Amino acid sequence: MGRIHTRDALLKKHIVELCGAGCPECEARLETPDHLIFACPFACAFWAVLGVDTTGCSTRDLHLFDASATVGPASLYAFSLLCCWHLWKRRNMVVFRRESPSLATTLKACRFRSSEQDHVDAWLRVLCL
Ligand SMILES: [Zn+2]
Repeated sequence: MGRIHTRDALLKKHIVELCGAGCPECEARLETPDHLIFACPFACAFWAVLGVDTTGCSTRDLHLFDASATVGPASLYAFSLLCCWHLWKRRNMVVFRRESPSLATTLKACRFRSSEQDHVDAWLRVLCL
């Protein structure tokens, strides 16, 4: 919905100047949600490794984002949101910690860990009343 605080939003709120509104990862003049999630070279590589076609995708239409060819219909929305969340978290690591997690590290962050199985089971119990 364009509500995350990418640099274009900070520019609109006069928190940064135009010269500081670019992508922290590449040469894009404006960091927008669409750029961060779908167009930045890192994001493109991320989705390409997963085999997800992001042609024409927009964060405003995230509910229409179709990764079913990769993950099937069962966890389609959770998968998409989880991937977007970790792209956002990675961006924040670049901006605030001056770290640059690799593609492999970002992909690994998207995995459920076996230690989280208890949480998944608890959610399923609650949501399957
Ligand atoms: Zn970029």
